[in-house]
Amino acid sequence: MKILLTDNRNKNRSFDIEEVFQFSDVDAELDAKVVANFLLSQQTEDLYFLTGNLKATVATGCDRCGKKVEFDVDQNFRYQIRLEDEPQMVSEYNCTEDDSEVLYLSDPVVETSEILSEQLLLSLPAHHFCDEACKGLCDRCGVNLNEKQCKCRETNENSPFAVLKQLQK
Ligand SMILES: [Zn+2]
Ligand SMILES: [Zn+2]
Repeated sequence: MKILLTDNRNKNRSFDIEEVFQFSDVDAELDAKVVANFLLSQQTEDLYFLTGNLKATVATGCDRCGKKVEFDVDQNFRYQIRLEDEPQMVSEYNCTEDDSEVLYLSDPVVETSEILSEQLLLSLPAHHFCDEACKGLCDRCGVNLNEKQCKCRETNENSPFAVLKQLQK
């Protein structure tokens, strides 16, 4: 959804957005159903505040075994939108008193998908496991160790008995 900033009959406008995102460029495939609301308020001719909240149900694969996992995220965000070119000396301008992010726009159009996908990626936990105790896949034979015990780890390759076992197969 595109929000045209200059369409400002009201100084404060709110938007409800529902959108489905699919990422395949992060570590695993990831689907997210997002419900968000935006509150846009104009401060001056070229300064706007955008605050919002994003709630999403995310489905992706377990980091260890790949099994489907689902979790919810809930993220608040706050931007200052400035209708000007991004300054060359970014460091000084980017620090605002209240930690909100600054968005510089040369066109007065906010693309909500860009903000939502950025916030969604920021809100993801570093790891997502089907279970904290997930044993993952065997790195030799690929068996899912939650479901089955493979022989790989029991066998000590250097022992002569292991070689015998191999021969017996
Ligand atoms: Zn797992
Ligand atoms: Zn194995």
